[in-house]
Amino acid sequence: MTGTFLGMPPFPEAAHDAVNNAQLRHNLRKATHTIRGKRAAVVDELDDWPQLRAAGKAIKDHTLRHLDRYLIQVEEAVTAAGGHVHWAADADEANRIVTDLVRATGERDVVKVKSMATQEIGLNEALADAGIRAYETDLAELIVQLGDDRPSHILVPAIHRNRSEIREIFLREMAEWGEPAPADLTDEPRVLAEAARRHLRERFLSAKVAVSGANFMVAETGTLVVVESEGNGRMCLTLPETLISVVGIEKVVPTWADLEVFLQLLPRSSTGERMNPYTSTWTGVTPGDGPQDFHLVLLDNGRTHVLADEVGRQTLRCIRCSACLNVCPVYERAGGHAYGSVYPGPIGAILTPQLRGTASALDASLPYASSLCGACYDVCPVAIDIPEVLVHLREQVTEQPGHRAERAAMKAAGWVFADPSRLSRVQRLAGHTRRLIPKRLPGPGAAWTDTRNIPEPPAQSFRDWWAQERGSDGSPRRDDA
Ligand code: SF4
Repeated sequence: MTGTFLGMPPFPEAAHDAVNNAQLRHNLRKATHTIRGKRAAVVDELDDWPQLRAAGKAIKDHTLRHLDRYLIQVEEAVTAAGGHVHWAADADEANRIVTDLVRATGERDVVKVKSMATQEIGLNEALADAGIRAYETDLAELIVQLGDDRPSHILVPAIHRNRSEIREIFLREMAEWGEPAPADLTDEPRVLAEAARRHLRERFLSAKVAVSGANFMVAETGTLVVVESEGNGRMCLTLPETLISVVGIEKVVPTWADLEVFLQLLPRSSTGERMNPYTSTWTGVTPGDGPQDFHLVLLDNGRTHVLADEVGRQTLRCIRCSACLNVCPVYERAGGHAYGSVYPGPIGAILTPQLRGTASALDASLPYASSLCGACYDVCPVAIDIPEVLVHLREQVTEQPGHRAERAAMKAAGWVFADPSRLSRVQRLAGHTRRLIPKRLPGPGAAWTDTRNIPEPPAQSFRDWWAQERGSDGSPRRDDA
């Protein structure tokens, strides 16, 4: 993944400021609650939602099991339709391929369709290093780019900004990137959208090269699919002469009939709409219609590593709807930046440490960025058991060097719980020494007690109370009878 976020502190430290930022918390709460309400209403309309969800899960699992076969099918179909397919093992290779392709056109500017894969590999930064300017055309991505900011939500990357902040960014930055914002710009959504539209129009009309991702790739025809709400994606996908699509290898679905399932699951789960306003599909090159040079960059970047993990591989079912973010109590308070990745929220907490590994303090902290309440699993349209993967990853983190105290504590707890008489003796001891137990732990335990008190053991354990009330054989005392 991109190094853009590397060097960030672990999740608890990064979340600290966000949790204390009342404005940010207000923005996040308002936005996530609005979207989650819309999602719940449109999902409730469908009697067969559980069946659709099960179908989405089954199609993804089947495809992942036979991914090699379906990817070859995609390559053959795209090539037969006049496109070119490139395989990228990691972010560096993908960035190099795209940069070389843009250079070969002689262009210095590209327009972009909102794409998580290109953010993941840090494509804009790589292009900038090569003297190529990438223009984001999705409204929220535009706000993030103009504000020299980082995205904080999968669907609404500028969710942490309110209207007046967006107005200030437009007034300050638009002129540097093209058509300036009008001087009398207000913070009305309609006015802000109109300023963005004018700003982007000259980009669409002058761009010769576009870069996109794709929500899905249909193996049987080699067709790529982008679903969106604004129409900016369709402009990028149809007007330029060259189109370069960077797509994660897990985005493939076998047939158009399979696609039908996801075109119902995705818009309801993401924007709370029955159907997304724009669905664009393209297959290689069509003479006289749309881009005449098409390149598909198939991106691995850690995905085959995820696929090899029996518990973790379900993460690759994700269709990036962001429903899990909108119901997560941790995301709602910590915001997206604390996750240190383009994938925030519950999906980020499981995807990022699998793609990047857990060697850094930040990545090792992500599996703990959850209360394990399970709300994310309930809303996930492809039934990814996020809590299960979180616990699985925590296990892997604690097996790394540097967790000696934690391992020793767990071993001791296991020894105590393995024998009822041991447990009883430890409970009695804790009851007698309860006044001596500190409220905060020193050393490695300090992080745990920074945010909570150690519960005070009761003076008398339940077992002792029971024996006192009922006798050691559990029979009622005679005066109770
Ligand atoms: S994990 Fe599930 S709910 Fe979250 S973004 Fe992916 S598909 Fe959507």
